[in-house]
Amino acid sequence: MFCELHNHLYGSLSAERLYEIGKKNPSPRWSIFTESYESAYSKKIDPSNFFQDYINLEDFSKLYYFNHRGPFPEFQAKFNLIIALVPFTIEEMKEVAELIVLDHARQQISHSEYRIMFSALEERDSFEKRIQSICNGLEEGEALAKKEGHTIRAEAILSLHRNQNTELNYNWLKELMEKDSHVKNRITGIDFCHVEEGSPPKEKREFFNKVLLDNKANKSSALSILYHVAESYQDKTPFSASRWVWESVAYGAHRLGHCIALGIDSKYFAETIRKEAISERIDQLNWELEHYNELIKFGDYYSKKEIESNLKNFQNCKQENEIIEINFDENTLIYLNTMQNYIMNHVKESAAVIESCPSSNYYIGMIHNPNQHPLKRFIKNKIKVTIGSDDPGIFDTSLEKEYTKASEMGLSAEELENIRKESFLYKSSILSGRGKSS
Ligand SMILES: [Zn+2]
Repeated sequence: MFCELHNHLYGSLSAERLYEIGKKNPSPRWSIFTESYESAYSKKIDPSNFFQDYINLEDFSKLYYFNHRGPFPEFQAKFNLIIALVPFTIEEMKEVAELIVLDHARQQISHSEYRIMFSALEERDSFEKRIQSICNGLEEGEALAKKEGHTIRAEAILSLHRNQNTELNYNWLKELMEKDSHVKNRITGIDFCHVEEGSPPKEKREFFNKVLLDNKANKSSALSILYHVAESYQDKTPFSASRWVWESVAYGAHRLGHCIALGIDSKYFAETIRKEAISERIDQLNWELEHYNELIKFGDYYSKKEIESNLKNFQNCKQENEIIEINFDENTLIYLNTMQNYIMNHVKESAAVIESCPSSNYYIGMIHNPNQHPLKRFIKNKIKVTIGSDDPGIFDTSLEKEYTKASEMGLSAEELENIRKESFLYKSSILSGRGKSS
């Protein structure tokens, strides 16, 4: 049996099911898809003839699947096809939840946590109804699976928006949990996903603290904090992206999504130029000074003098948003490797778990060489990890296939078996302190 801890409910929609839902939808919200698709792929899609142009499932699947290496906006454009085609009515959401749970139960998954996300501007009434309907669907899905002889526990995780109504939506959720015991039983965590650039973990420090205090005060409604981090870091160096992982752990996130920049082989960046804002560089240099004595125990690093003098120069600069370039020469790669090892050791010592998603990291993380995949290095560094399928519908994968991909990276059967077994210890209800789920 498998435990699925990194999965987005709607990203689990198979091409076939999405195609059926889309054909029945009288008014798809085309612009959400066509605009992002055109900007990511420089290709126009004509919505007026869509189901004639994509008359068979095979062509539609090609459009839907994200199974090539490309940056996050290319993935998001594909996800937007779901947002455009699905009506997201209360009934439809329940049905989708139900069917996906049943699919997963048939795939030998016995515990699954589904991330769900709504518009940041959702009205409270429909916010509540949608959550209730998904929770009902999960419950129904379990019942359907049971009829077929499968046992699955299906929980939901609410993905909050990083920059909009975060606390408001969290408060609505907590209040709903108090008045609806089904919701309280089903929702076991909160998550942050979508674009991470521009939303540093330091901005979430106070909020995480509040959630952790709420968890302590009321264990029966405790929520795990799940945080996608260092997955997409186009706007900064892998040094800063790795530091973001350190910060997320320090501020109390229970499970971290992906952490590609932390575990990827530093040679991946050989002879590249990475850019970041001066304000980010200042944060990074301050952090390096603060951790310097520990950091250098893990290998060669910039001299303290060099860091101090760089910091001084940048602090004197008036333009905090100005972008600077860093050349990844041989020494820089060695230093990155040192910093990654230092932070990986920190993650290992902490209670945090990394959710590693092989296909997703190959495609969105644009990793070509399996030897450079972060999962291998996380295992070598004895970090607590779980394997997730992320968006199996879009990636045309399954949790079992993801374990196979991990084996193709060189993970031994024993290592894979340990990950499979230990994943059950990293369930949200355990990490948040809620205790055994009923
Ligand atoms: Zn994800």
